[in-house]
Amino acid sequence: MFNETLQKYSFLKDLGIEEVNSGACSGVDTWLPTEGRDLLESISPIDGSVIAKVALATSEDYENVIKAAQEEFQTWQMIPAPKRGLIIRDFGDELRKYKDALGQLITLEMGKIVAEGKGEVQEAIDISDFAVGLSRQLYGLTMKSERVKHRMFEQYHPLGVVGIITSFNFPVAVWSWNSMIAAVTGDTMVWKPSSQTPLCAIAVQKIANRVMKRHGLKSVFTLVIGRGSEVGEKLLNDRRVPLISATGSTRMGVRVAEVVGKRLGRTILELGGNNAIILMEDANLDLAIRAILFGAVGTAGQRCTTTRRIIVQRSILKEVEERLIKAYKQVTIGDPLDPHTVMGPVVSQQAIKDMLDAINALPPQGGKLIHGGERVNRKGFYITPAIAEAPGNIQMVCTETFAPLLYIIPFDTIDEAIELHNGVPQGLSSAIFTDSVKYSERFLSTIGSDCGIANVNIGTSGAEIGGAFGGHKDTGNGGVEAGSDAWKQYMKRQTSTINWSDELPLAQGIKFGE
Ligand code: NAD
Repeated sequence: MFNETLQKYSFLKDLGIEEVNSGACSGVDTWLPTEGRDLLESISPIDGSVIAKVALATSEDYENVIKAAQEEFQTWQMIPAPKRGLIIRDFGDELRKYKDALGQLITLEMGKIVAEGKGEVQEAIDISDFAVGLSRQLYGLTMKSERVKHRMFEQYHPLGVVGIITSFNFPVAVWSWNSMIAAVTGDTMVWKPSSQTPLCAIAVQKIANRVMKRHGLKSVFTLVIGRGSEVGEKLLNDRRVPLISATGSTRMGVRVAEVVGKRLGRTILELGGNNAIILMEDANLDLAIRAILFGAVGTAGQRCTTTRRIIVQRSILKEVEERLIKAYKQVTIGDPLDPHTVMGPVVSQQAIKDMLDAINALPPQGGKLIHGGERVNRKGFYITPAIAEAPGNIQMVCTETFAPLLYIIPFDTIDEAIELHNGVPQGLSSAIFTDSVKYSERFLSTIGSDCGIANVNIGTSGAEIGGAFGGHKDTGNGGVEAGSDAWKQYMKRQTSTINWSDELPLAQGIKFGE
């Protein structure tokens, strides 16, 4: 059976995927045993078939992994940051070689169309390039001391072992946003990926292993695939892990914050979004309709930045609905490995159920389905993308349904639009389409969007890696990943004062025992 799978998807062989794979890697040559472990099946949403199996890590495996990462930290932190950057440059080059294969594996295991699968690997390559440059720019400040012949400055040191918990929808990119930055800052790391996309993690770990081995390194990147309730909880409770960066649902983030907070550990939480676009009547609708289509239907509505709400000025409501329905009718749904497909499956049967439940809950709340939301009659987990009208922020509109379900909400004034926009619990990505400077500046001002990302005349999804990425409110704790100065979260700050005088003056002019 697995031989057939290998014949059909030859990229699996290139990436080193086997019929039964170890789910724990503590070093470049040490994949932990598979015997006696429970097996996890990796299921393709394309047709519901089993691709391969993964031996779930036990508590003992976890212990081996964490010890190896801790030990490696002693070596890694002493390598000068620019030299760490050169090693990451090699990793980026190795990823380039596997871009096609890895992009296809993402598609096979998670269901996004192959252009987006390869785009995700490109994002990992981009952040590794960013990290190489960053490795020479881990700047601290110098300050003027108030004391004579004293020098004052701050510097940043690596934190130690970083725990990276990732969601299924970006099985490679989310890890790379964290790991590439953490690596150049001098941290080692333990990755706990989603149980829905274990093969992507195994393939990436194998690519990283090859590169690290060439440089005589062992356990900068390690991997542990296990149950959230067992291995995940161990990671959260582990005092040897000073930072947990967790991406996933708000429910998971609350648990991470609670457990890690209790031991005063650090967290970066990237959680659920509920992203909206405000459409003013002066908007360029040709641009807006394309942005909404990509934002709402791309990745089958399973991006954290997916456009879930459009808030439309009433005078253009009818036209927007008609144009959107026309655009939705042209979306080709099918095998995401086929380059002509625009929308592939959602990740699981459960995701279809969640979407249908949300649609059914609309009428009693005053909402109405106006397009789509039908199961597609083929093997795998396919559903047509849906558009619904909502009178305002009804309960379903305030909930993140992780599927291609778009709500249209009318408004009359900009004040009303911004109130609707901010009136949901989440705060990740947002956009306004307008040609008015007044409206766009208002949207970006302190009395505008309350999200971590706010765009003008581009949609909510498709962030570039150079900017800091993160959200507010239920989307997380304001922690950011990727670009800008996100690196500071992976390091500890130290302020130092050096006295080169022959006196011991105290700050604030205090005289003590003189
Ligand atoms: P999920 O919360 O089900 O799982 C995310 C990860 O958390 C998985 O690896 C899972 O095993 C792990 N996990 C769950 N419980 C845990 C525990 N107790 N201890 C340790 N680990 C635990 O999310 P998902 O379905 O994989 O992803 C979809 C969600 O992720 C959506 O809500 C989406 O908006 C969000 N997301 C957010 C961002 C962002 O940057 N804000 C990016 C991508 C996805």
